[in-house]
Amino acid sequence: MDLGIAGKKALVCASSRGLGRGCAEALAAEGVDLVINARTPGPLEEAAGAIRAAHGVAVKTVAADITTEEGRARVLEAAGDADILVTNAGGPPPGMWSDWTRDDFIAALDANMLTPIALMTALVPGMMARGWGRVVNITSVAVKAPIPVLGLSNAARAGLTGYVAGTARQVAAAGVTINNLLPGIHATDRADALDRAVAEAEGITLEEARARRAETIPARRYGLPAEFGACCAFLCSRHAGFIVGQNILLDGGAANCTL
Ligand code: NAP
Repeated sequence: MDLGIAGKKALVCASSRGLGRGCAEALAAEGVDLVINARTPGPLEEAAGAIRAAHGVAVKTVAADITTEEGRARVLEAAGDADILVTNAGGPPPGMWSDWTRDDFIAALDANMLTPIALMTALVPGMMARGWGRVVNITSVAVKAPIPVLGLSNAARAGLTGYVAGTARQVAAAGVTINNLLPGIHATDRADALDRAVAEAEGITLEEARARRAETIPARRYGLPAEFGACCAFLCSRHAGFIVGQNILLDGGAANCTL
């Protein structure tokens, strides 16, 4: 299927690795020019080189922390009049509900709610003026099925989800869609770090920790960044203009819910 977005420009945040990288690769495969971002310059440049070589699109890089005002300003300057925005950032740390302070909540809200909102506020008006735009926010399965140790994530992402639900309906008439992609367990460095922590805590091997977690997923495996990216690219396609304000779960069936 031709997604009809060749020649468009996309800003994909937090995209040198993992799910953001999967989205960047899938958009590039459709002929979309990219601005990609991460905090660490080396891996970011490597990712840009690999994407250029594989897909022949233009790729600009901005090494910056997307959760800071200064970082966002530099990223937005490079993004210019982007047609497509994919928001992403690292998730908050796990912990215990009784330990979290106001500062912990402010940091989580900044990273996983207010950062995507600031990026949308900056880029959506231009998309509306041009009559076409696509926004995909990478959130989490935690929006539908809370993960107790990730209470900071549950809270911040729920706030973003509420904002998107209303805002998506305010901008749809101008040809701009905003949707959220909710990852369950995917084979990325973040998933690896969580499995390593479990392996150490329980005195088992990394492979055992992975196998145990995969057993909790009806698909009996982790998702792949490439699968996640393909779904993102479809949401950014010309075929997806009637998908507005949705929360699409990519979790191999792990969240046991009907809707
Ligand atoms: P990952 O493999 O750790 O990759 C994170 C990417 O984001 C890297 O390129 C990293 O590069 C960049 N990054 C992190 N913080 C950043 C910041 N403040 N500013 C700019 N770039 C930043 O993570 P992932 O698994 O793809 O997860 C992506 C998001 O999905 C996270 O919010 C995570 O909580 C959520 N999620 C993931 C899963 C999963 O199973 N993987 C499940 C549910 C939710 P630098 O470190 O160089 O900045």
